[in-house]
Amino acid sequence: MDCLFCKIVAGDIPARKFYEDEQVIAFHDIHPQAPVHFLLIPKKHIRTFNDLEEDDKALLGHITYTAQRLAKELGCEGGFRMVMNCNPLAGQSVYHIHMHVLGQRQMAWPPG
Ligand code: 5GP
Ligand code: ZN
Repeated sequence: MDCLFCKIVAGDIPARKFYEDEQVIAFHDIHPQAPVHFLLIPKKHIRTFNDLEEDDKALLGHITYTAQRLAKELGCEGGFRMVMNCNPLAGQSVYHIHMHVLGQRQMAWPPG
């Protein structure tokens, strides 16, 4: 399958991976938008949030729980942002769902 993040999961493309379990991996974003900026992705290929199925509910709970745990481990307990973009209008550029976790700088709201 021609998917960048599936290739990172498989180890075919290098990434600064710092966490892995049976369901997810986490690695630092190649173009960080904050002092801490990592991506948490399911190993399972899911193209967009529109493609989620009922059976994926537990996986999404695991992603959310793991995101805050890793954010704290990286010193972001004082504040962090979790972002999941769906489709071009929201700015999705890689079509394998991922949660951005950004921290250690002041965030603005609303996002641009
Ligand atoms: P999106 O725009 O789809 O929400 O986020 C995709 C993210 O993946 C972007 O922040 C981009 O910098 C990151 N990214 C794209 N290609 C690579 C890569 O090869 N390695 C890593 N570590 N991050 C990538
Ligand atoms: Zn994929």
